[in-house]
Amino acid sequence: MQRTKVKDLLSGAAAGQDVLLKGWVRTKRGNKYVNFIAVNDGSTINNIQVVADANNFSEEQLKDVTTGAAVSISGELIASQGKGQAFEVQAKTIEVLGKADPETYPLQKKAHSLEFLREIAHLRFRTNTFGAVFRVRNTLAFAVHKFFNEKGFVYMHTPIITASDAEGAGEMFRVTTLDPVNPPRTENGEVNYEEDFFGKATNLTVSGQLEGELAAMAFSDIYTFGPTFRAENSNTTRHLAEFWMIEPEMAFYDLKMNADLAEEFIKYIIRYALENNREDIEFLGQRLTEEDKAKPQNERQEMTLLEKLEFVVNNDFERVTYTEAIDILLNSNHYKKKKFQYEVSWGIDLQSEHERYLVEKHFKKPVIVTDYPKDIKAFYMRLNDDGKTVAAMDILAPGIGEIVGGSQREERIDILVERMKGVGIHEEDLWWYLDTRRFGGCPHAGFGLGFERMVQFVTGMGNIRDVIPFPRTPQNAEF
Ligand code: ATP
Ligand code: MN
Repeated sequence: MQRTKVKDLLSGAAAGQDVLLKGWVRTKRGNKYVNFIAVNDGSTINNIQVVADANNFSEEQLKDVTTGAAVSISGELIASQGKGQAFEVQAKTIEVLGKADPETYPLQKKAHSLEFLREIAHLRFRTNTFGAVFRVRNTLAFAVHKFFNEKGFVYMHTPIITASDAEGAGEMFRVTTLDPVNPPRTENGEVNYEEDFFGKATNLTVSGQLEGELAAMAFSDIYTFGPTFRAENSNTTRHLAEFWMIEPEMAFYDLKMNADLAEEFIKYIIRYALENNREDIEFLGQRLTEEDKAKPQNERQEMTLLEKLEFVVNNDFERVTYTEAIDILLNSNHYKKKKFQYEVSWGIDLQSEHERYLVEKHFKKPVIVTDYPKDIKAFYMRLNDDGKTVAAMDILAPGIGEIVGGSQREERIDILVERMKGVGIHEEDLWWYLDTRRFGGCPHAGFGLGFERMVQFVTGMGNIRDVIPFPRTPQNAEF
């Protein structure tokens, strides 16, 4: 007999028929006449209830059917008499494929803290919360490809090992095969990377953008979706050392078109998750509502998770320039009451407290901030006519802060070279990047969406470590 997934069993399509199901036991309860076994196989947040009559199954036969055990069960799918489920399986055979000793299996029925579950990340997939989170993550990833495919974008695989540094700054992981204890050295005592595997110093990429731009100069519209690495020592709830980023790059786009695309994209993938993972999102929403009850009134969310997501897909994002954003902050009561920890003045890099004020207190919706001072942004962003700002855009989301960073790119080679010099990048190192400005360069733009921050936004999970299967953070690379 062919196995049916729990999700399909629960649809009732096979009612009245014999079915075969396999999965993991969530709970078993019962009395001397009957046992109820809840089984989950990850296809849905819901369990299928299996009814095992004491007439058909001895205590001995059921003794290894414990929480966490893998089971294979056959029986008839019938309409359920009990409340809580429409269909259940009347068991005919029960086979334990893999036992889970109740004395040592860490996931028992009681609720576990997210911190504890992080320590057993290899098992946390089996909880309702993480089942929901990673099903939503999967749907969002699929929606990313669907969105760009429908728009005729070409999916580009940009390299993970790179000799360039898109940000023009440090914070990268070195990739080397040199002996760490005794590396070859140059005459003046520095490590000689000419003898390294690639004949030069290489790192894990912090962004696929520069290579993405090269491809956009041929395919018009491309996107990347891959792992990205930052060796920054930021132990926050929004930073990982290894995360996934989506980076579209479009020829013939200006900043406004770039922002329009980003907004449409974000709404599309959220809507897709709402349509395809409603039960998971509802479950995660209830989780948050429960969590909120423990908080003082003024710290509670104004909207439920579902309300928030529906609000975001149905309303325009706010758009302000950096200069306007600074004015809003300076005129706020929050500022006047000296409640910001960091200073506010034109030229500062917005701190997360500033971003959160704009998004959560002032506008109460996602905000696209454009035209930042050139000195706080990357060299490749297009210089505006004022000579002070660049055509940059950050999208800030409630509860998360920056979720997208993007810009129109500098296509004028003389200005680009000037800006590279300013940040100490040698022309020779990026000769190939500059070639796209020499040969058929054109106005173009793109952005990077941090995938985990997006998953955080849709699932409401407060810590980024809980939306990637095996988080890489400072001092932590277990599993
Ligand atoms: P932040 O100021 O929050 O550190 P950033 O300015 O370094 O972000 P970008 O370099 O613009 O970010 O990267 C593009 C996007 O990638 C960000 O908007 C964010 O969504 C995501 N991102 C950046 N750094 C990380 C990280 N360490 N972990 C997870 N996501 C990240
Ligand atoms: Mn950063």
